Amino acid sequence: MVIGAGGLGTPASVYLAAAGVGRIGVVDEDVVEKSNLHRQTIYTEEDIGKLKAVVAAERLQSVNPHIKVEPHKVRLSSANALDIMRDYDVVIDCTDNFPARYLINDACVLLGKPDVYASIFRFDGQASTFHSRKGPCYRCLFPEPPPPDNVQDCAVAGVLGVLPGIMGSIQAIESIKLMIGMGDPLFGRLLVFNATDMTFNELRFKKNPDCPVCGEQPTVRNLIDYEEFCGVRRAAPSVQEVAPMELKREIDVGDRIVLLDVREPFEYALCRIENAKLIPLGELGRRVNELDRSAKTVVYCHTGVRSARAVELLTSEGFHSVRNLKGGIRAWAEEVDRKVPIY
Ligand SMILES: [Zn+2]
Repeated sequence: MVIGAGGLGTPASVYLAAAGVGRIGVVDEDVVEKSNLHRQTIYTEEDIGKLKAVVAAERLQSVNPHIKVEPHKVRLSSANALDIMRDYDVVIDCTDNFPARYLINDACVLLGKPDVYASIFRFDGQASTFHSRKGPCYRCLFPEPPPPDNVQDCAVAGVLGVLPGIMGSIQAIESIKLMIGMGDPLFGRLLVFNATDMTFNELRFKKNPDCPVCGEQPTVRNLIDYEEFCGVRRAAPSVQEVAPMELKREIDVGDRIVLLDVREPFEYALCRIENAKLIPLGELGRRVNELDRSAKTVVYCHTGVRSARAVELLTSEGFHSVRNLKGGIRAWAEEVDRKVPIY
């Protein structure tokens, strides 16, 4: 089942059809737009305005008339996800937004199915295969969504058209491996591709025993409202923030600033801001005395949610000047230092 017939979903599904995968479901509610054509290469100018699920199904069927292709002209939601996904063996997440990714992950965990994931942003791509029965899930890797005002999709941020072709092809390979039981899928591994440097890096991550959906005592036992889940988790307004460019300016003029990174060690290993001290959020309470309460401190994480909690904790511990880096290291990578890998 291919969810999203866009930049990732079209290359993935064409290769699966050509490979002879007997039954392919395509879920998409959108119509083809002119701005899609540079990266969604199965569509043509004549398809503009037509439903992607319908056009994609026709193309796949013409690539291979011996398979069954099932278009689902709906938006995947908490109300229909389990019913639609139940009959497929492998779920391929080709969506471009966080509510959909958490929804697909949770539905896959509840149904015990693999979730073949990829995402793209400008010149960077990432891929992994989540399977709660064989390894960690998407929530083990990304416990919380980024703040909603920090998220840009491809239409706004732009993307190199070839990039989703590469990442969607990786999803097709992963799916075929799962179907025939060959090789080592990306269980517990996040593959990070940078098209600018032409590098592949790999991040290893583990199942989180406290994961709310696949952990030892799950609290998510049914699908929830994912728009709400991804929309309300914004930083508390009481937390003082500093924008990436402003922080850069303060560092450049020689302000003495303590940079505190509250992410996990595997994230720190992938990228960090120079001279930052690492104390994961979960350890901060008992390690707070390693820090100077009178120092000007700026805390960051991936997107600014965990670090907002760290700022609250440090403020309550008597730190005088502690601010949250708005948008986290992701915003820093986008706005200040393009050499920092985005994940
Ligand atoms: Zn999990």
